[in-house]
Amino acid sequence: MSLVRPVSEQLKEAFVACHSEGHQWRHMGRVGGSEEGARPPLGLTDSVARYSRCTSCDSERYRWYTRSGEVIPKYHYTDGYLHRKARPDDEPAPTKQWWRQQLVISLFEDMIPTAQPTVQSRPAGRRRKAS
Ligand SMILES: [Zn+2]
Repeated sequence: MSLVRPVSEQLKEAFVACHSEGHQWRHMGRVGGSEEGARPPLGLTDSVARYSRCTSCDSERYRWYTRSGEVIPKYHYTDGYLHRKARPDDEPAPTKQWWRQQLVISLFEDMIPTAQPTVQSRPAGRRRKAS
């Protein structure tokens, strides 16, 4: 049984793009550390977070600031974004190179070369000499 819901094709494409090129963070507002629902890092109750959401994969980022200017980012990734090893002998997480490879494949997969020069086949025989 899998606890992770199946990921839509659109989301899969977003994961490839975000892993390869980084997230597209959109600032959504400010969250106070003492606000209900806010979960600042342990011991940072007197802090304020800049909350952002990725417009591509929907992951969330909280950048928690203290009064002294210290910043601690916290991420909440969309289900399926992170590679999870269920057992020690499971596949390791894909590398950055692998994600880029997936991006490149997706970029080229439905590119049908339209301007391909037509090669006219000519009989291999000797051409008649013009006289
Ligand atoms: Zn993203």
